Amino acid sequence: MGLDLKEGERVKVKILVLNCGSSSVKYQLFDMAEEKSLAKGLVERIGLPGSRLTHRPVGKEKIVKEVPVPDHGAAIKLSLEALTHPQHGVIKEYSEIRGIGHRVVHGGSFSASVLIDSQTKDLIAELEALAPLHNGPALRGITACEVILPHTPQVACFDTAFHQTMPDYVYTYALPYELTQKYQIRRYGFHGTSHKYVAQRAAELVGRPWGDLKIITCHLGNGSSITAIKNGKSYDTSMGFTPLPGLVMGTRCGDIDPAIVTFLMEKEGWTTKEVEEVLNRRSGVLGVSGLSSDFRDIEEAMEVQNERARLAWDMFVYSVRKYIGAYIVALGGLDVLVFTAGLGENSPRVRLDICQGLDFLGIQIDQDKNNVRGEEREITAPGAQVRTFVIPTNEELMIAKDTQAVLQEKGLM
Ligand code: AMP
Repeated sequence: MGLDLKEGERVKVKILVLNCGSSSVKYQLFDMAEEKSLAKGLVERIGLPGSRLTHRPVGKEKIVKEVPVPDHGAAIKLSLEALTHPQHGVIKEYSEIRGIGHRVVHGGSFSASVLIDSQTKDLIAELEALAPLHNGPALRGITACEVILPHTPQVACFDTAFHQTMPDYVYTYALPYELTQKYQIRRYGFHGTSHKYVAQRAAELVGRPWGDLKIITCHLGNGSSITAIKNGKSYDTSMGFTPLPGLVMGTRCGDIDPAIVTFLMEKEGWTTKEVEEVLNRRSGVLGVSGLSSDFRDIEEAMEVQNERARLAWDMFVYSVRKYIGAYIVALGGLDVLVFTAGLGENSPRVRLDICQGLDFLGIQIDQDKNNVRGEEREITAPGAQVRTFVIPTNEELMIAKDTQAVLQEKGLM
């Protein structure tokens, strides 16, 4: 396995996790001996006026630095300077970083994380057609790292990989078969790293192998998706060819009748770009409420009887309940239900509303235990058959662990 680390050297293994967006780079450095974060940060407004770095070393003051950042290479250099800074840094030299794990949104048919070589890069580039907003920036980050840290191996971890286990009748769309083959049109699913992390963690908490459990994971944030997990494998998930379908989201429409798209294009004279913008950025809870995509604002507006905020909230909650019902049938029962991500971790009200009246399915949560925000906790009511948990997601740690595993397997660590 290439794991020829000398006694004590294991302590030195540090992995850098990068999440490159169109105008931002998020980074986090892990000490893998204890699987602990040492520092994290964000470079935002890349290529725009007002770009800046926010660096948060664990246990020290955060630093904010306003500085021009023309491209992803400059953003990664800035992150590395912060990580090695004499005062705010957490390592002395770049060479302490033994591997880099990149979050890559679209992995096509990749079913696991992979070492980045020229062939992987070509495949990620090909997939840019399916996820233009996401895969392009990841590729720019990978190329920049090759220049800045030429001797550090890199691994790509895909949001779609966990869902590659779905059966063909789940991932195939009922379109002319030849077209689905020609354009690789199928359900891919996203948030896979998060669903896998919280499901594995829930199994640890239950004290049973996750391969023995029927699990539904609800990743409820600005983007939301829900996954049915059987025998430790993703069986079905609510996002699809793109992250647009499924649940009602902050600004995405979720499931709608596809005929509405062509209807609106005709009526409003919209181009494909314009209709994409409406469905991705002006719909969902924002579109319905006319107020905000942030669920905190929606909860507040409901307190003062804002009718459209109430409608948006009810639609969101109903969409989650509908999927839970469908997935219990898909799994043939349910052992564990998990809530995660910004809203799932932080809103007792959303969890309560979703689980209301589901005791006939074995789901019942305890109101006192449910009064929790951003903390790992079991919230199952006494005697309920389904074990329900709030588990803060940790996609970055999952990426760091995968990166380490791939590098060990390849004998590079
Ligand atoms: P994420 O995309 O996972 O970062 O989640 C962002 C969403 O979580 C936003 O819509 C926030 O409104 C929601 N959120 C974060 N904190 C809270 C909170 N304390 N109560 C309700 N919603 C929250």
